[in-house]
This record gives sequence, structure tokens and C-alpha cells, in this order.
Amino acid sequence: MQRVRFGRTELMVSRIALGGIPLMRVSQEEAVAVVREALALGVNFIDTANAYASSEAKIGKAIRGVPREELVLATKSLANSAPVLSQHLDNSLRMLGVDYVDIFQLHNVSSQEGIDAVCAEQGSLTWLDEQVKAGKVRFPAFSSHSVTIALSLMQTNAFDAVQLPLNFIDREAVQAVSLARTLDMGFIAMKPLGGGLLENPSLAFRYLLQFEDIVPDPGIEKLAEIREIAALVETNEGLSAADEAEIARLREELGATWCHRCDYCQPCPEGIPISSVLVVKSTFKRFNAERAHALADKAIARARNCTECGTCLPRCPYHLAIPQLLKENLAYVDAAQWKSEI
Ligand code: SF4
Ligand code: SF4
Repeated sequence: MQRVRFGRTELMVSRIALGGIPLMRVSQEEAVAVVREALALGVNFIDTANAYASSEAKIGKAIRGVPREELVLATKSLANSAPVLSQHLDNSLRMLGVDYVDIFQLHNVSSQEGIDAVCAEQGSLTWLDEQVKAGKVRFPAFSSHSVTIALSLMQTNAFDAVQLPLNFIDREAVQAVSLARTLDMGFIAMKPLGGGLLENPSLAFRYLLQFEDIVPDPGIEKLAEIREIAALVETNEGLSAADEAEIARLREELGATWCHRCDYCQPCPEGIPISSVLVVKSTFKRFNAERAHALADKAIARARNCTECGTCLPRCPYHLAIPQLLKENLAYVDAAQWKSEI
């Protein structure tokens, strides 16, 4: 598989990374088989997180015996205090069975408070620099769901890589790709398949492969998935006029319900974490039941208090009918089909 230069890290990484979220949903045996198949197909970049439950341990089993220098390992922590970050990093190293990770991402820095915690004196960034000096981390990075926040944090030039959602529906991050090029940062494209909501992998990957220097990070749990995606990357046929028309059609079709998780609609007077409810289908597709419930249950309970006041409506740049969509997602949650999935 083709390798690309990952910004100023000078790491040469495979054209796609293996995203570790769904590995928590499958057995250890299945997870090991998926990771080993990815390696056999030429993927050398694996991205996981402390928050992805058993994902790190399963990856650790799969990479046992693989020369460390042949792998590029990325993990993340949601913590924002030095003691907890250290605990998470040490746990990641133990689970993965390695002495260092190549990329350590401060996970989901998506608010101004998040930036403040990162940049504070003795904040997460200071901690991260210490880990680089100690040799436990090679390159500091962060992930975010907010392009505005990410652009601001990238400007500090303190990070070697960034991870943001990017697919043919979520395109706001294209401006962050430009800034990453200017700053020579590595760029990981989160949610290349829209968190499981884009059902045409061929179209989704051919769209992303137009960006020569970004690394799509699909979450994979089945052998058939990694084989299909690796084949798409190898052939990389580009987009035809018919594909462009299909993308335009899908943007039109999905645009009215697609939450970009920008959170411009906040604050809601009822304290409803609107985006967490609007992406609930994706949450239950990607995570295992325990983690999905941990992520979604409080938000779902709060959403039942929506008064339909409409405060959020003019704030959404995508003109989503938020109160109506909250109802639809609650109906989905309450449906027997959803219950049987958990
Ligand atoms: S309409 Fe519902 S979600 Fe929107 S601000 Fe009002 S209470 Fe919150
Ligand atoms: S509802 Fe609109 S403003 Fe709120 S997070 Fe989703 S896309 Fe952004």
C-alpha cells in the first residue's frame, strides 16, 4: 500500500489508518484477525484511544512480535489533568505492549474550556512535552469535533498532528487541511464513512483520496471491510462526473438531518446536549453497548425535556429542524429495533 509523509513528523504512513473504535465490539480473536489482515495489506498506522475499552489490549495482542519500527501507533486520552493523563498513557503502553507511542492525541478538544485546559500553565500541553522528553511519546497531537476550536489550537504550532471529521458531507475541516499543510502538520480524517452513516465506501474513499496528504481513519471490525477499503485505496480511481452528481444528491438527501457536531446551537436553556442526541444512531453503530450507553444515556434523558422553544434553530448553520430531529432520534431510541441492537 502507498505510504505518505505525515507532515513534519517525517513518518511514512499507509494511505489509510486502522481506526480502533469498533474493535471493542468484536471478540479478541476477531479483532486480532482484523489487525493482522490490515498489516498484511500494508497498513502500518493504527489509531486507538484509552476511551475505546478493550481496543488497545486487542491491538496489543495483534501486534505482538511485529518489529516496533514497522508500526505507527496513535492513541488518545480524554483526561485534562497530568496525573490522569499519565495513568492513561501508562495504561495504553501496557495494553499495547510497547515502550512508546508515535502519536499521542489530546482527545476531543472541542471547546474554549478545552483549549484553556490544554494551554494552562502546567496544563495538558506541558504534560505532553514532558512525555516527549521522557521518550514515551514521539509526537504531540490532538483530536477535535470543532473546526473552529481546532483552527485556533493549531495556530499555537505546538502540535505535530490533528484529527478532525472529514467526509463528503462534513467538509468544514477542509480549511483545517489547508492550515495543516501550511504548518506542515499531519492530518487524520476522522469519520471517513460519516460514523457509519455513509453507505457507499467506494464514493467516500475516492472523495477523501483526492487529498493526497491526509490519512483517512476508518473504524474497522470485519475482515471484509478492511479488504474492501484496502482494494479501494489500491485502485484509487478518482471521481467521475457521475460520482460528483451522486455526492451532490447525497448531500441534498442527508443534509437536512446530518448533524456536524459543531455545537453552534448551544447553549440550550434546558441543557440538552443536542449534537449527542442527533448522532445517536452513529454512536450505537460504532461503539459497544456499554460505551454507547455511557455516551448517550444522559443526553437522551435530557432531550425528553425539549420545550420546542426554538432558541437553537437560528444558530444552526445547517438549518437543521432540531426539535423535530430530537423527536425522531428519541423515537429511534425507543423503537424495538434499537433495543434489540443493544
Ligand atoms: S428547542 Fe429544544 S433543543 Fe432547542 S433550545 Fe429549545 S429546548 Fe433546547
Ligand atoms: S444541530 Fe446544527 S449547530 Fe447543532 S451541532 Fe448539529 S449541525 Fe451544529
